[in-house]
Amino acid sequence: MRLAVFTDLDGTLLDHGSYSYAAAQPALDALKQRDIPLILASSKTAAEIAPLHAELGLGDWPAIVENGADRISPGTLSEDAPEYEKLRAALADLPDYATHFQGFGDMDAEGVARVTGLLLENAALARKRRFTEPGLWSGSDAEQDAFLEALAEQGIHARKGGRFLTLSFGGTKAQQMAGIMADLGCDTSIALGDAPNDIEMIETATRGVIIRNDHGNGIPPLPGEQTGRIRRTALPGPDGWNAAILDLLADLGL
Ligand SMILES: [Mg+2]
Repeated sequence: MRLAVFTDLDGTLLDHGSYSYAAAQPALDALKQRDIPLILASSKTAAEIAPLHAELGLGDWPAIVENGADRISPGTLSEDAPEYEKLRAALADLPDYATHFQGFGDMDAEGVARVTGLLLENAALARKRRFTEPGLWSGSDAEQDAFLEALAEQGIHARKGGRFLTLSFGGTKAQQMAGIMADLGCDTSIALGDAPNDIEMIETATRGVIIRNDHGNGIPPLPGEQTGRIRRTALPGPDGWNAAILDLLADLGL
């Protein structure tokens, strides 16, 4: 068996409030000792993921960025952003209710720091977007429906993550998984996540882990939970992550 682990970051490997992964260190060490690839899969940008990828010592392993819009090899970061520019242009052309959507591109780095809780320098990296636009919605549900309908007419999808409504021209974390599994020669996967944008990844994996989410849109019951293929953690964030990985490594005889 050749295992790869795919993980969401915010609210999953990283604590929702402090962005720390300290509580997951024993499981991170266990993966490293076994040379099991850890694939970061996040709504974060390539620019944001690169420092964490280096800090975690993930070497040449790829990462899934901007909610599955792309997969990158850290070290070869591009700054071209034609899709993002197209997305921002489409938003600018939308009717009045689009004023209820405040995207990262409408904020400066200080604004992004305020709504995310990120440090200013990290907020600046979060604004280096190439494919997707996260933002806050301040209108009614009915206005949001109309907004999403107008976006869909232009081929733009919307996803609700832990705290943002994220717009894109498509691509999911699960779609990037298959390519990475093939590249790495892996046949078994574990995927961990805490929000609806992680569901496909959790359902695609050999073993899925739903991390307890105390801060907003969690993951509804999934069919795989009845068969035991998907498990739900008792603890949130990196504490839940740590326990789930250590349990699964034991279950898989690793
Ligand atoms: Mg998350």
